[in-house]
Amino acid sequence: MILEIILFTQLLKPIPEQPVFSPIETSLQLPLGAEGIYFYNTKQYLCTDFDSCYHEIGHLVDHENDMISIENDFINAIEWYEETASLDDYWKILIYPFTKNNSCGIYTKGIDSRYIELYATILEKSAYIQMPQEFMEFYDWGRIMEELETYKEHLVNEINRENYTK
Ligand SMILES: [Zn+2]
Repeated sequence: MILEIILFTQLLKPIPEQPVFSPIETSLQLPLGAEGIYFYNTKQYLCTDFDSCYHEIGHLVDHENDMISIENDFINAIEWYEETASLDDYWKILIYPFTKNNSCGIYTKGIDSRYIELYATILEKSAYIQMPQEFMEFYDWGRIMEELETYKEHLVNEINRENYTK
């Protein structure tokens, strides 16, 4: 009976819900700094704390969903949000350096990767502040929840970028 009630409640939910984390979960941190890296060739990632792991999960689900972050629908949603949000809006302030051409210099092998980084950064920050409804549809929440079950396996003490970026 209890199970049935839970299932019924889930059916009533009109939109996907983002995960809610306890302070204990988000305080997970290894001592040697916070960094992460995602490998597009193997779909693997390494990370050194909760924030960097969640960020790299963003890159993973973006990649698995054919790079939603560089599609016009996502970029248009970001630009529209930036135009319409109030000046002191948390997300507008977060977005600003990413949308301004040449202002933050996020380039990967000569390719403009600003929106790729923004996509992962929005997911990362949503652990603490509710993601705007306008962005929710671009994230594969089922996959994110699944990956969160096992992300601790990807934690490492330190990432030496010189060993990984050739
Ligand atoms: Zn990133």
